[in-house]
Amino acid sequence: MSPDAGAATLTTRAQDTARVREFVEREVTPRAAAIDQDSAVPAELVRALAAEGHLGATVAPGFGGTGLDQVRLGVLHEEVARGCSSTRTLLTVHGMVSDAVQRWGTDDQRAEWLPRLAAGDALGALALSEPGAGSDPTGLETTAEPVDGGYALTGVKTWISMALIADLLLVFARTPGGITAFLVPRTTPGVEVVPIDGVLGTRGGLMGQVRLSGARVPATAVLGPEGRGFPTVATTALELGRYSVAAGCVGIAQACLDAALAHTGSRRQGGALIADHQLVRRLVTDIATEVTASRLLLRQAGALRQANDLSAPTATWMAKYFASTAANRAATETVQLHGASGCFDGHPAARYFRDAKVMEIIEGSTQVQQVVIADLVRQDRRRLPDLAAPLLSTGR
Ligand SMILES: Cc1cc2nc3c(=O)[nH]c(=O)nc-3n(C[C@H](O)[C@H](O)[C@H](O)COP(=O)(O)OP(=O)(O)OC[C@H]3O[C@@H](n4cnc5c(N)ncnc54)[C@H](O)[C@@H]3O)c2cc1C
Repeated sequence: MSPDAGAATLTTRAQDTARVREFVEREVTPRAAAIDQDSAVPAELVRALAAEGHLGATVAPGFGGTGLDQVRLGVLHEEVARGCSSTRTLLTVHGMVSDAVQRWGTDDQRAEWLPRLAAGDALGALALSEPGAGSDPTGLETTAEPVDGGYALTGVKTWISMALIADLLLVFARTPGGITAFLVPRTTPGVEVVPIDGVLGTRGGLMGQVRLSGARVPATAVLGPEGRGFPTVATTALELGRYSVAAGCVGIAQACLDAALAHTGSRRQGGALIADHQLVRRLVTDIATEVTASRLLLRQAGALRQANDLSAPTATWMAKYFASTAANRAATETVQLHGASGCFDGHPAARYFRDAKVMEIIEGSTQVQQVVIADLVRQDRRRLPDLAAPLLSTGR
């Protein structure tokens, strides 16, 4: 079945956005401070996301998902991040794994995993990074040694979001022919997940280190082409992850704007609302303009991804690059506008500031993007996104 088959088209984007926003305001935003403080997305929120169909957003209806188009998916991840970046992280990595199974899986792998992933009965995590392989994951050293009927996996995967609650790990390992993707249930003997505490932002990401010591998986655990897992499974998963994180950055920046408007419109200093001071208005102007620009780049990337356009990867890199740096500027100024009150753990502005910083590191660091986008544009001018066409054709 095609991943797009049966995609929802019966409601307008505006209706869908309103419904997601209502869900986030009811289920996500009120929990955000506790998620940050307790370093965990709670099980009841995972159940609420599942009940609303959000854990099946990247899965086709034929497998029990909602099969959102890419623009709607971007709206979902943006709105969830506006409430809580850690919760968006869950949608990101779970969505990456679900999408990878759908795109690259055999019929048996799809039948085994997709209904469970779509229903939230199984959660996914993506295990690519290693202590010595971050920005350049092709340097990974985890091995998958061929053994009778399958493989034995040995190595260490680190900084793995949601590893502590995931049921299915998408693990990349070196086989004799190159890098190969594997579907590894977390309960596989030889798989140990060790919590990683004290992360700066997206603190509820339930991060862990995945230690593989000769973990045996059957040959049917191979996802996609053996030895070519990087240009196939990893590449499409990272593209989706980058798009999702770009959306997450728009959500953080919008949350900053919301907080900045609320605070500057109620706090008085020097005999006036601080919103009336010219220098404060300039900061709010910059945040509002950059939120809007980020969102336009995101929508463009979504429309191009949906159209499988040649320029979609470049548009996605640009959206993530601009939105992540803009979210950092917005969060910095939002702390500034809150004065001392924004400088304390527990204040939303402080959380946005920490969450935004992490966005410049994951899914391609700012420096990697500054190199890659130039290369993409230089290699092939056809990969320059068309700024007008997709926006004019999508409507709302
Ligand atoms: C909150 C969080 C969640 C994460 N979740 C996951 C996950 O779910 N799964 C997973 O597999 N990984 C995950 N990661 C790991 C993440 O993918 C890596 O941190 C990221 O790829 C960067 O790698 P690194 O940390 O090793 O930094 P490095 O690659 O060592 O980079 C360090 C510095 O060098 C710069 N640099 C590196 N290469 C270049 C270059 N070519 N040109 C210019 N500058 C360069 C970088 O920009 C950065 O400033 C997560 C990380 C964080 C912080």
